[in-house]
Amino acid sequence: MATKAKEEEKSGRGMQLQGYKVEGLSIAGHETCIIFPSLDLAFDIGRCPSRAISQNFLFISHAHMDHIGGLPMYVATRGLYRMKPPTIIVPSCIKEDVEQLFEVHRRMDHSELNHTLVGLDVGEEFCMRKDLFVKAFKTYHVIQSQGYVVYSVKQKLKQEYLGLPGDEIKKLKSSGMELLLQETQCPILSLMKLILMF
Ligand SMILES: [Zn+2]
Repeated sequence: MATKAKEEEKSGRGMQLQGYKVEGLSIAGHETCIIFPSLDLAFDIGRCPSRAISQNFLFISHAHMDHIGGLPMYVATRGLYRMKPPTIIVPSCIKEDVEQLFEVHRRMDHSELNHTLVGLDVGEEFCMRKDLFVKAFKTYHVIQSQGYVVYSVKQKLKQEYLGLPGDEIKKLKSSGMELLLQETQCPILSLMKLILMF
């Protein structure tokens, strides 16, 4: 895998940042789509580059065409290949308009365009999976926009049990793991317009 990643980096297709492979492109006014294959997500869809299609989750920052233009194509292409309907997260303020956009396309070509659309407000969280959630934060642009911080969720042994011998932990386990563990949340990356912070 490491060699493959290196080859891809050499060929200009993706690079590794903090252990996460990142692909995509961002050309202001033309197209922005950043892809994290290991997290199964794309940030903005640009004109819908082909490698974005396989990502199950799409997070949209704002409604400018260079960031959202490829949205119907993304959903339609996944339908064409019979892939799982994607989950698309958009700022709440554009959710209704995005719904109407899909309705117009359905009216025109009688396609299903199956997907789940989620409106997220600044400060709200969206759970991608048990060990991963995303929180929207405000970004500043000529129209309303937001970025997203991706958090990993891990279970770790509570402080008071650290250093206990294994068989004691085993004994305690039998009375319920939830007593032993606490949840920790750790930001792993931040997605915002044109700037990626790790
Ligand atoms: Zn813009």
